[in-house]
Amino acid sequence: MHIQLLGTAAAEGIPAPFCRCRVCEHARKHGGKNIRSQTSALIDGVLKIDMPPDTWHHTVTHGLNWCGVKDLFFTHSHGDHLCVEPVIMRLPGFSNDCTEPLVIYGNETVLGTLRAPTQSSPEHIQRRLLRAFEPVVAQTATVTPLPADHIVEENCFLLWIERLGKTFFYAHDSGWFPEKTWAWLEGKRADGVLLECTMGDRPNRRGHLGVEALLEASTRLREIGVIDRNTTVVATHFSHNGHLHHEELESRLNPAGIQTAFDGIKIAL
Ligand SMILES: [Zn+2]
Ligand SMILES: [Zn+2]
Ligand SMILES: [Zn+2]
Repeated sequence: MHIQLLGTAAAEGIPAPFCRCRVCEHARKHGGKNIRSQTSALIDGVLKIDMPPDTWHHTVTHGLNWCGVKDLFFTHSHGDHLCVEPVIMRLPGFSNDCTEPLVIYGNETVLGTLRAPTQSSPEHIQRRLLRAFEPVVAQTATVTPLPADHIVEENCFLLWIERLGKTFFYAHDSGWFPEKTWAWLEGKRADGVLLECTMGDRPNRRGHLGVEALLEASTRLREIGVIDRNTTVVATHFSHNGHLHHEELESRLNPAGIQTAFDGIKIAL
């Protein structure tokens, strides 16, 4: 399984448009891995997770098109993960030579948001509802949605992705996992684990995690068998409000064997 992280920031991106904080100024000055766009991932060119407003930027920066994507999974409906316009660009009149149907998976809010703009072309875009703990056999992978502790208004999902004999646990906008999610994870094993580090040096646990809670979560994942010595562990979804730039994040996460993601990073499992 080859995973590319197209963007690695929280909603504002880094640097944030209206911001003069230390992290944003550092990013403007040094560029490189400190420049972060909104979070999204592409697996083997066929499975995409989320469609943020920065999708056009991802198309250009990483030299990609999305014609090969057969399954599009949404974690939740927040504006940095679900932008309607790039989804509409899949429809005839906006796209060319994209023939195979795209299947979109998401919670009720996500599918409700996409219903009106996509329902006229079921031969091009189909929609399927995700339910917690119910695996879906998609065209490209078997995916089990697991509950997060992110917001109360909707079911935000972590994704347990199985494809070609490999398993990737994709978990941002997670908060500290609910106990029923921990119980489901007990005894399972992943080849790759992606966790969120949105809040950096802050002690958050509800809604989003910072470094401290992320390290605690990775320790517990080791204890229950999800992470072992062969598992690749990556942190992503960074906010400037976490107060740490890329090199500072690396200095805190490297000792725990956790990679600090950057835009475009490729992970092979
Ligand atoms: Zn987010
Ligand atoms: Zn800032
Ligand atoms: Zn969110």
